[in-house]
Amino acid sequence: MLMTEIILKKKNQQILTKEEIEFFVNGYAKGNIPDYQASALLMAIVINGLNDTETAQLTKAMMHSGEIIDLSKIKGIKSDKHSTGGVGDKTSLVLGPMVAACGVRIAKMSGRGLGHTGGTLDKLESIPGFKIERTRQQFINQVNKIGFSIIGQSANLVPADKKMYALRDVTGTVQSIPLIASSIMSKKLATGADTILLDVKYGSGAFYADPKDATRLAKAMVNIGKAMKKDTRAIITSMDQPLGEAIGNALEVIEAINTLSGKGPKDLLELCLKAGAIMLRQAKICKTEQEARLLLQKNITNGKALKVFKDMVIAQEGDGSYIDNPKKFSIAKNVIPVKIKQGGYIKSIDTLKLGIAAMKLGAGRAKKEDKIDPAAGIMIYKKVGDLIKPNDVVVYLHTNTAKYEDIIKEVVAAFELSSSKVVPQPLILNTIE
Ligand code: URA
Repeated sequence: MLMTEIILKKKNQQILTKEEIEFFVNGYAKGNIPDYQASALLMAIVINGLNDTETAQLTKAMMHSGEIIDLSKIKGIKSDKHSTGGVGDKTSLVLGPMVAACGVRIAKMSGRGLGHTGGTLDKLESIPGFKIERTRQQFINQVNKIGFSIIGQSANLVPADKKMYALRDVTGTVQSIPLIASSIMSKKLATGADTILLDVKYGSGAFYADPKDATRLAKAMVNIGKAMKKDTRAIITSMDQPLGEAIGNALEVIEAINTLSGKGPKDLLELCLKAGAIMLRQAKICKTEQEARLLLQKNITNGKALKVFKDMVIAQEGDGSYIDNPKKFSIAKNVIPVKIKQGGYIKSIDTLKLGIAAMKLGAGRAKKEDKIDPAAGIMIYKKVGDLIKPNDVVVYLHTNTAKYEDIIKEVVAAFELSSSKVVPQPLILNTIE
């Protein structure tokens, strides 16, 4: 088989065979196909697309390029949830314990944050002592005992994706629905869960601003799950403003603890109830959304969900006293109120700008090697549709850096006001089940 022929086929809008797709994925992962030929094929895919069968075959070939995690020693239904990423998205920290308290098993492998989006592992590491490295046996034992664990991704999970994603990043070939869908789903399928729920974000802080594109991506991923006979569902949710009130690692852990204690922001709780209700139905623990929501609420009220979170933290060597008393988390040296001069209704919040501002304050990484300051971030108390008076504080910056004057200007510029009432976009736009 010749790589040039495969490239020309896709350039001419022809359908690739399973053998051709496997030849490309295996050859590239093993270093037998050079970057210039892989880039040419990836660009042809960006331009001419892949049909559902080709996308499923690409996913399967990528998934089998490395280790497939075996979760069969964990009793019960193992469920996974994946978010396409956003600003202030601490859903996994709340949803995981909520559904685990209801009997779903969550054996989750997560990633770190880069750029404007935060990473679940970085958030958890703001709890003193918390370890994201566990042996496979420790991971399995913990999920059997507590129902919940989040650890770092295995080094040998979908190596073909690691190499292809790095190449896509520098060749303008990231934005392609079949390539994104196969990249995400190959990793989800390799981590061995029985059911998958995808939270696909749209809006200014998301991968795709347009909800139509986010919906196309969600459908492509659900179709891959279907082709692999895995119960895969999706929700399309707004990232047109940050989720909850906290952006930044320790700040988001505190918000997660508050939400699990029944004192969290409404939007975060609603997203967790909606997603949790789907997961409970996927795991066949509940039959209806109503029944599932009641069970989830009950496990917040009776403290079981918070206990699962604390037990998970202690099992992974974190200091559980921080969960009992979140005031123990250290606060940044500077907590700076940011005011907006004029009054009016908040029409829009540029979520990407806020995510980048949080990163510059120390909460995120511009480059992979950058260090994170767990205390840094932004607290946002005014949301789209709120009426603000002149000189009202809209956010507080939390930072240990002394250079924040320009960041204040960037944060102010993220808010657009209107003199007339504004109706925010729905938090949950659609579900694909
Ligand atoms: N996230 C992934 O894992 N892969 C992509 O291609 C895009 C986002």
